[in-house]
Amino acid sequence: MSKTPTLLDRLSKARSGSAPEVTDRARRGLMAYVGAQADVARAGKELADGTAATGVGRVALSALSPQGLACADGCAFCCILTGDDGGTITEAEAKALYSALAPLAGQPDGRTWHPKACPSLDPVTRSCRAYDVRPMICRAYVSTDVEACKAVSEGQAASGPGTLGPYHTYLAAIGLSRSALKGVKRVSTYALSRLAAAAVEGAALEDALDAARHKPSELDAELKRSKRDMSRA
Ligand code: SF4
Ligand code: SF4
Repeated sequence: MSKTPTLLDRLSKARSGSAPEVTDRARRGLMAYVGAQADVARAGKELADGTAATGVGRVALSALSPQGLACADGCAFCCILTGDDGGTITEAEAKALYSALAPLAGQPDGRTWHPKACPSLDPVTRSCRAYDVRPMICRAYVSTDVEACKAVSEGQAASGPGTLGPYHTYLAAIGLSRSALKGVKRVSTYALSRLAAAAVEGAALEDALDAARHKPSELDAELKRSKRDMSRA
């Protein structure tokens, strides 16, 4: 008997912690993603490591064409990360980032330009050294005003920068994946800046993942922030 209906059934009953309309969008995306997979074991794995959630987010992002953006290569105020977290990423994103950065271990990184900059950044060109595998949070964060980004990087409030809706859909999809796989597989999220720092400092993959792994409550908190941001939008 196929196990696909079981996975789909779990998804149909899962809860995300995000707003209902965002959860519905994420659920539809995940169910389409899982339903299209012929290999059930692989579908479960991609749900668990966040590949499915990222796929849902990227499809939603590809449908947008925001106008008037100031974003350009070498413009990197958004890569100055506050706190010790830098943003939520999935296991699949963490592993892809690690693979891109580990060969660069020991080279000067973004922190020689700015102490809070992402270690993935090239300190001279201020381009992302992991651009092709940059996580969803980096893809979805855009701005119409570079000066506003500079102000935000200095801890001031400013309008112009913000996160596009697909990031919220992606987050809801991670929440749904975790709920659907409860008791079956662990779904973890990771801190972008801790993972990137460990990779460029030469840590082994498992050690980098251990250093960057979030407690489950951190995804709950990010989903709560996302829900609040969506209600203000
Ligand atoms: S979000 Fe802001 S700092 Fe980042 S590339 Fe766009 S304009 Fe530049
Ligand atoms: S991964 Fe790349 S795009 Fe994302 S914050 Fe780091 S340097 Fe910037």
